Amino acid sequence: MISLGCAKNLVDSEVLMKQLDANKFELVFDPVNVEKIDTAIINTCGFIGDAKQESIDTILQYVQAKQNSLIDHVYVMGCLSERYKSKLHEEIPEVDAFFGVNDLKKIISHLGGSFKSQLLGERMLTTPAHYAYLKIAEGCDRICSFCAIPMIRGKHTSRSMEDIISEAALLVKGGVKEINLISQDTTYYGLDLYKKRLLPELLDTLANLEGLEWLRLHYTYPDGFPAALTQVIRSHKNICNYVDIPLQHISDRILKSMHRGLDGKATRNLVELIRKEIPDVAIRTTLIAGYPGETEKEFQELRTFIEEYRFDRLGVFSYSHEEDTSAFLLKDSVSEKRKKERVEELMFIQEGISLSLNEKKVGHILKVLIDREEGDYYIARSEHDSPEVDNEVLILKGDLRLAPGDFRHVVVKRAESFDIFAELQ
Ligand code: SF4
Repeated sequence: MISLGCAKNLVDSEVLMKQLDANKFELVFDPVNVEKIDTAIINTCGFIGDAKQESIDTILQYVQAKQNSLIDHVYVMGCLSERYKSKLHEEIPEVDAFFGVNDLKKIISHLGGSFKSQLLGERMLTTPAHYAYLKIAEGCDRICSFCAIPMIRGKHTSRSMEDIISEAALLVKGGVKEINLISQDTTYYGLDLYKKRLLPELLDTLANLEGLEWLRLHYTYPDGFPAALTQVIRSHKNICNYVDIPLQHISDRILKSMHRGLDGKATRNLVELIRKEIPDVAIRTTLIAGYPGETEKEFQELRTFIEEYRFDRLGVFSYSHEEDTSAFLLKDSVSEKRKKERVEELMFIQEGISLSLNEKKVGHILKVLIDREEGDYYIARSEHDSPEVDNEVLILKGDLRLAPGDFRHVVVKRAESFDIFAELQ
């Protein structure tokens, strides 16, 4: 099983692996060496240019292995396959079969297995045993101009509260201490199924799960951000003071063109409200540079925005001109070179901001979760760091005996832009 793209795709891969395992298939996740496998299943990403290219390169790598008789079968599933199935079929006929994003049962029967309904809500975790992603919904009802996801993943479909809570309980019973809530738009949770936004209630219920140490929220949407959310986050010690809220831009004209549903002023107000309501909150956001028609002046506005609001965690993407999105009708006027320069300029600024924010933590005590060992260090994260995307806390091993999944209190000794060095308290 090869899983590309986002954590939502990873969860799909884990669900499939659990089913295949129950059908007595021997499974290897992200194999280093293809010789050892008969069949490769590649779960692809079809979101933006770079991610699509990575998926195609991976498919071609396994097709090559098949042509060299190193492996027997190559199957492709996920977002790229959902979006370009017929085209891919024509262009890469060596692939045995292409599946979409909702073809779990088809894949299992195609491999000669049978779908085990009794395993609903069960997965074969590929993350370290102490943390997991929990998908609360699929699809998206938003119409962001640059985004192909609604075309790929369909309408927003919330999972029932019962299903989510029982899966969370199963994860915690299995040793998971940190649950990362994900979907395309977590703040939309419940609007379809229960006709009202129920993310605060869901968080509140999950936070009462015995043994759940950290509950973290991802992919909140600024427009319609539930007011009650900040209170729930503040009222539970085990809900991380962490809000992931992609803002994408700050210019009124561009936010309007992106169909984001709120303007620059409302965006600033929301960030200020979240910070006022949750004093110790870390805000992660993502921005797009080089959107069609983005002028130097609008880019400077974006630059000033991150300099003023000093986000704790920031990702910047270069605009990708995606066919069938409404932005595709606009002229992709900013050159790839200039897009790249704008992304680098913003990330250079963020590096300085992140360093100064980390330096303020020197001497402070942090509760951290040990993720792994690497060389002379234990690598950990604070509640302000989501796995794989945010900062890390490095603890010199020396003669310490720590294990992945341990929580420890550390004193911050030294700061770098995206890493903190600390010692056990
Ligand atoms: S919220 Fe917007 S950017 Fe996110 S998945 Fe939905 S349409 Fe795409």
